[in-house]
Amino acid sequence: MLDKVFLAADIGGTQTRVVVSDAAGRFRIRLARPTEAHKGKASVTDRLVALINEALQGIESSQVAGIGVGIAGAVNYESGTILQIPGLQEWANTPYRDVLAEKLGFPVGLDNDANLAALGEYRFGAARGYHHAVYLTISTGVGSGIISDGKLLRGANGTAGELGHITVDPNGGRCGCGNTGCLALFCSGSAIRRKAIVELEKGRDSLLAATVNHDFAKLTAPLIAEAARQGDSLALEIWQRAGQYLGMGIVNILNIFNPEIIVLGGGVVGAGDLLLDPMNKWIEQNAPLAVRSNTKIEIAALGDDAGLYGALALLT
Ligand SMILES: [Zn+2]
Repeated sequence: MLDKVFLAADIGGTQTRVVVSDAAGRFRIRLARPTEAHKGKASVTDRLVALINEALQGIESSQVAGIGVGIAGAVNYESGTILQIPGLQEWANTPYRDVLAEKLGFPVGLDNDANLAALGEYRFGAARGYHHAVYLTISTGVGSGIISDGKLLRGANGTAGELGHITVDPNGGRCGCGNTGCLALFCSGSAIRRKAIVELEKGRDSLLAATVNHDFAKLTAPLIAEAARQGDSLALEIWQRAGQYLGMGIVNILNIFNPEIIVLGGGVVGAGDLLLDPMNKWIEQNAPLAVRSNTKIEIAALGDDAGLYGALALLT
């Protein structure tokens, strides 16, 4: 008898990725293509199905156990429906699990990409062996997923765990999600970049202006981290602020979920101590000892593959 294979896919804003894995979670085949979301739902779906068929070349259909699919939007896991993808109206209320299952002819699981990344870190990565874990990924935005008592906490219609959109400052401005003063407005990569641009446009003296030849649109979080390491006072202030707000968000998370571990992923965490020192200081000064004393904070282990591992975990 041939061994079963397990598939995972991630439909991201930029790339669609597909992997074929064995039962132990080892990726045997890995493919990626641009998502080209602007071409619409039918085109994205056709490209995904073509990519899956390409990945399955030489594999008998009877070997396929199923596919877990992650997507950057709000998903009702139980019904397999995409509720909403920010900025892409056409996808609202699409029964996408069934659409894919019909085209593919094998079982499909569908969930939000950040939920799946949390599940991936829980089953295969930094949160393995724990029962209560919170995953936060800090990149362009802030994504998250919650494992409570060994289970992904999805809430009533699948939209639980949007920790990037808890309010940390009522005067913090409007967020794209509709709320005011969200955590993501202070510690995401785009927030860090935006804060630098605002200050530079006010005429603030900083190494950063020369770094990008006064073309502020070229600023990135890694460049701001580099300037901070050279002692630039604006860059240091920006990281200090981002870390404090992240700490504020984490104190809320500790008070609500009492996790054993918080796993931090995403490119912005690459700033290391610049972000983590002020975060830790805020947590020490603000979280009640009983709430924080048993919680570890660790860096994610699976990088960009966390969501793919989580998609596999939907199948087992
Ligand atoms: Zn928000």
